[in-house]
Amino acid sequence: MKSYVLTEFGKPLQTVEASTPVPHGTEVLLKTLAAGVCHSDLHIWDGYFDMGGGKHQPVADTGITTPLTMGHEIAGEVAAIGPEAKGVAPGERYVAYPWIGCGECPACRVGHENICSATARTLGIRAPGGYADYVLVPHPRYLAPLGKLNPVNAAPYACSGLTAYAALQAIGEAVYKTQPILVIGIGGLGLTCLKLLKALGGKGAVAADTDPKKREAALAAGALAAIDPNAEKPGRAATAAAGAPIAAAIDFVGSESTARLGMSAITRGGKLVIVGLFGGSITLPLPGFPFRALTIQGVMTGTLDEFKALVALAAQGKIESVPLVERNLAEADQTLQDLRAGRIIGRAVLRP
Ligand SMILES: [Zn+2]
Ligand SMILES: [Zn+2]
Repeated sequence: MKSYVLTEFGKPLQTVEASTPVPHGTEVLLKTLAAGVCHSDLHIWDGYFDMGGGKHQPVADTGITTPLTMGHEIAGEVAAIGPEAKGVAPGERYVAYPWIGCGECPACRVGHENICSATARTLGIRAPGGYADYVLVPHPRYLAPLGKLNPVNAAPYACSGLTAYAALQAIGEAVYKTQPILVIGIGGLGLTCLKLLKALGGKGAVAADTDPKKREAALAAGALAAIDPNAEKPGRAATAAAGAPIAAAIDFVGSESTARLGMSAITRGGKLVIVGLFGGSITLPLPGFPFRALTIQGVMTGTLDEFKALVALAAQGKIESVPLVERNLAEADQTLQDLRAGRIIGRAVLRP
């Protein structure tokens, strides 16, 4: 099989020919049908995360080492199964859950493998991923059936879709179905969030973005209104646009100004969910937390249960797709370069 491998941080991916792995135990070998290219692959490729304020954290500090086959948004067809892999058969098509934890730490034991504190086995980040003809998945439990979904549409549910879905679940169905929320930052994730909110029967969202084109895209995706966060008192503008108090805000940017906007927009008992990794820091008056009964929560991808619920919802045809750009798997390196240069509009997905 061919893999497109990061052999050295910051250097072009190398094409590596190796024998196709044989699944052991509970392992499932998937033949790659589609592999999404995520923005975080750029950080891994660079070898560091930008923590804001000019601070860099080497990815090696988080257990990421080369050689690495990246690609954590994987849809594939079962090619072979290990002798203990039950409930799957060759020829079946799935999306893989990549956020695989150790299975033993307290987070994993309550189903939060995505925030495993030990040596996580994340596909495409700490274990070989989808920029290859084949991928080994350690257990059938990490697979969600594709149904009639196109693999190219389905692959991004493993990361960008799941993150947007998990952010909504952090707010809770009881809230987003009955009260308006604020979605800050209408890039791919923000747009996905608006489409998911619609599919889930949400009350609706006010969108905030500095770019008028993105505000237009938000309205087309079903936002109740779209505001410019640079306007005067944007928190009040958001509430006025919603026509009701804003119960929660999701910040897909994660900058000082967007976090402040989220905090100022939410009503008593409200929650700010921070997803974006732009960076920075803010100070907040502490009495506001008890007086206004506020919560701030961070979200890092989502759980296996959330992933399965999301893919099932998508398989019912209930979620509108975001714009996708298809490329050949052999163009993995070029696609990363194009993504970095801002030459890709939508989500890039590689196909063998
Ligand atoms: Zn990702
Ligand atoms: Zn764990």
